[in-house]
Amino acid sequence: MTVVAGAGVGAVVANLEISRAWLVDPASGREGPGGIVVTDGVVEAVTWLDDADADGIDDRGIVVAPGFVDLHVHFREPGNEDAETVASGLAAAAHGGFTTVCLMPNTTPALDDPAVLAGVRAAALASGSPVRALAWGAVTAGRAGASLAALGELADAGVVGFSDDGAGVPSADLVRSALTYAGALGLPIVEHAEDATQTAGAEANDGFVATVLGLRGWPAAAEESAVARDLAILPEVVRDVPAARLHLTHLSTAGSLDLVRRAKAAGLPVTCDVTPHHLAFSDEWLAGARRWAWEATGDPWGDGTGAIVTAPYASSLRVNPPLRAPSDAAACREALLDGTADAIATDHAPHTSVDKDVEFGSAANGISGIETALGVVLAMVDADLLTLAQAVAALTTGPARVLGARWGSAAAPGLVEGAPADVVVFDRSATWTVEAGALASRGKNTPLAGRELAGRILLTVAGGRLAYEAETD
Ligand SMILES: [Zn+2]
Repeated sequence: MTVVAGAGVGAVVANLEISRAWLVDPASGREGPGGIVVTDGVVEAVTWLDDADADGIDDRGIVVAPGFVDLHVHFREPGNEDAETVASGLAAAAHGGFTTVCLMPNTTPALDDPAVLAGVRAAALASGSPVRALAWGAVTAGRAGASLAALGELADAGVVGFSDDGAGVPSADLVRSALTYAGALGLPIVEHAEDATQTAGAEANDGFVATVLGLRGWPAAAEESAVARDLAILPEVVRDVPAARLHLTHLSTAGSLDLVRRAKAAGLPVTCDVTPHHLAFSDEWLAGARRWAWEATGDPWGDGTGAIVTAPYASSLRVNPPLRAPSDAAACREALLDGTADAIATDHAPHTSVDKDVEFGSAANGISGIETALGVVLAMVDADLLTLAQAVAALTTGPARVLGARWGSAAAPGLVEGAPADVVVFDRSATWTVEAGALASRGKNTPLAGRELAGRILLTVAGGRLAYEAETD
């Protein structure tokens, strides 16, 4: 592999040749041994090798895939730049292999006005990062949940859809109006499905672990009733506004995913995403267990005596929606496999130590997760729960489809000759140990600190320009 990129991050990749690697191209559905040549930022050649020439190349070595797309990130600018800035967030994205990210509008002020979007775009430009920063606009003015934001103005300014993420849209009439107006603009509503009347003071998934630890339960019904409400409204809106679309983000319960499965079967225009942590962690982690969700034993205390073997209440595990039971994590994985879930989105949620390193019930919700997403997803691949091609699709073509027309690029994410290079190169089997201090994100809040993950990112190229390159040892 040779790279002559020029002056570092942001520079056009003058020459890049990767040979004898494993290519994954979800746009064409093809994967196999081959190589790629990039000249002056453009993919000049994609070469697939015959079996006879492919000796010794498999999907466990160097992998070349389209750059990842994240539908759900929090970059905290404007308003909480101590937790993250657009610049640090884009650096973290590149470090995680992402070349397109969609910023959530729960900033201070909220992104409910084109002027806020202009500020975010200026910050992205000033960062020099080539990672593409798209943005969701707020559904309601100030995200206050009282009246609709100026959706038309936001659409004209270029938002990719609307969300009040951080909270659900609080009332059915607002959901109906939002789906109607956004649908007329050809854009989706992204719902954070949570009925706040059921989660006041809630701390952890309502279940065995929360009960034993004495944490206030966060019922599955708080999410499922919001999902059911939106799915009941959607077909009525679609009758009048055929382009109306609903996207449900970070679904976490088996019941929610079943509702989406049935809605899709009925032909409703609904999509959803799941997060790496809801796929791979479970509420047993709150009790000190650190087994992947598919390795859960039902005995989070590990030694069979019920004694707490690791410090519980790690506030890095406090997240909204909460980490659920291992069976819910299994349902999230099943949803990815059967197409109920369209994408993996990180819900990258960096926080300062002041907001996060406090008692569990007072800690801010969220995990700084964009840099560890690939490693967590590859743990599922290594456990044969998901193929590498399925994992890459859930991080590329899946989210691009959710963005629809606002994906804004000629082609779906793919390895396409003649297109600007937008690729990630990673060593599938090379491991690295997560060190919070070494994350590019300002948010050091990760429950994976000290854990070894597979899948070292070697190179991220966005729009033909260098976004990240690993130091060579
Ligand atoms: Zn959310």
